[in-house]
Amino acid sequence: HTEENVENLVIGSGYGGAVAALRLTQAGKKVVMLEMGLDWEKEGGKYKPFSNLITPKNNSTWLKKSTQAPMMNIAHFNKKFTGVLDRMDYENIKVYAGRGVGGGSLVNGGMAVQPKKSYFKEIFPNLNVDEFWDNYFPLAKKELQVNEIPEDYYAQTPYYKFARVGESEAHKAGFETVRVPNVYSFDYMKKEEADEVPKSALAKEVIYGNNHGKQSLEKTYIKKAIQTGLLHINDLHRVNYFQETENGYAVFVDVIDTEGLVVAKKTISCKNLFLNAGSIGTTKLLLTSRYKGKMNNFDASLGSDWGNNGNIMTGRNMVNTLFNRVENEATNTNHTTGTGSKQSTIPVSGIDNWEDKEHSFFAEISPLPMGVEVYTALYLVINKVPTPGTISYDPSVNDIQINWEKKNYKHTVENAKYFIKKMNKANGGTPAGLLWKGAYGPDICYHPLGGAVLGKTTDLYGRVKGYKNLYITDGALVPASIGVNPFLTITAIAEYCMKEIIKNDYSVS
Ligand code: FAD
Repeated sequence: HTEENVENLVIGSGYGGAVAALRLTQAGKKVVMLEMGLDWEKEGGKYKPFSNLITPKNNSTWLKKSTQAPMMNIAHFNKKFTGVLDRMDYENIKVYAGRGVGGGSLVNGGMAVQPKKSYFKEIFPNLNVDEFWDNYFPLAKKELQVNEIPEDYYAQTPYYKFARVGESEAHKAGFETVRVPNVYSFDYMKKEEADEVPKSALAKEVIYGNNHGKQSLEKTYIKKAIQTGLLHINDLHRVNYFQETENGYAVFVDVIDTEGLVVAKKTISCKNLFLNAGSIGTTKLLLTSRYKGKMNNFDASLGSDWGNNGNIMTGRNMVNTLFNRVENEATNTNHTTGTGSKQSTIPVSGIDNWEDKEHSFFAEISPLPMGVEVYTALYLVINKVPTPGTISYDPSVNDIQINWEKKNYKHTVENAKYFIKKMNKANGGTPAGLLWKGAYGPDICYHPLGGAVLGKTTDLYGRVKGYKNLYITDGALVPASIGVNPFLTITAIAEYCMKEIIKNDYSVS
């Protein structure tokens, strides 16, 4: 058991943690960052390359003996490993998260989507929306190196046939579509296709990590923070809980090995503590600390306003559209059968039905890169969450429970059914029952949000109410949904919070 003392401690290295680390180090402050997953870059990247979707190795999966993806091949391993994609299973909901330095940025699709201004306002009524549109969203996009697919490339590459077909089918069904910016470099992707560089997005790499092309956080925010010389990252450090001390906080940590076994215990004392373990991780740390660390001053809102961003995975089986398509082909060369055997893993288009008050949703046109034509259209549909869930701590299992029942996802299922029905009516096809029982996966959550909400559990700048020098700047701040893929919003909110914290609590302007 060792004891350490630091000034500024950041728990978690996803979007919230990366922004906190960069802005603190740029203000001249030394920062120690704890991350339960691996630093994938260390020792020359010895635990890489990351796995692709078709032949995953044990570095794909966080401490389980088989892969846990919502679909695709299931691979089994001899040994558990601290792999990059985790699935946390609760009753009625399975939450996915990235593990390692970079958090979710290591495993996500890179879609950098700005929410609807009206919905942002509805979700955060106390924030100055114009300030976000003028400053924090542009800043987040710049730092994250967001770019857009060139139209001429999109229009002709076989790797985006699935998206072009998805768009034209959506138009036929009367929906509007939008092109979506991404942090995957499209310059790199074009070179992949031309065989000039090693393939990544075009070689089925994404949810188990991208070896090339994606500007994940270790290449942007975290890299910049390291370059200040003031950031020290401890990987394989899993925080259990913390408690208040005279001078700040004592944080109780298990150091684990790559099989997940505890090899050391540490108590790290700090003056300023930044919780950025993601919506589930941060909420769990707070609730566990309330129970074990006797931290009884948290606001009563802690654990409430949790949601899955209205995530539902759904798909359409297109086999019975074959006949229609063959007929169409004569007149429309862009509109051939199926979604293509070649598919980029990086989504770049979406169906925007947000203005429909009865059925507001945003559907990501997702790839299903099986390497063969599977005649299946896949969508991740994002919805409002009119009835959020709650998170509570269960001492009997030393874990949290997510209270998430049919009433919490009823609205989401209704919208997805409306969407698929309309698409099939216009284009042919049937709900893709092969993928999920009943064709809908409302229990798959890629976008956990909330649990320690801005302006409720914290003040309007991420300072935890009831305590001093205790901060949250991650997805836990966003109540239940934001209507689009969330990391751009999480980054913008973290930037906004850190600006105020650095200026007022650290007196650095
Ligand atoms: P995270 O990024 O989850 O970071 C939290 C970090 O804290 C993790 O590294 C974790 O290992 C660490 N941690 C947790 N608990 C502890 C602990 N007790 N001790 C130490 N460390 C801890 N969003 C988009 O906007 N666009 C997309 O295209 C997109 N695609 C996605 C695809 C997949 C497969 C998944 C899983 C998510 C996707 N997301 C996408 C969601 C996005 O990645 C998350 O919203 C985002 O990463 C959340 O950021 P965060 O900072 O709140 O937490």
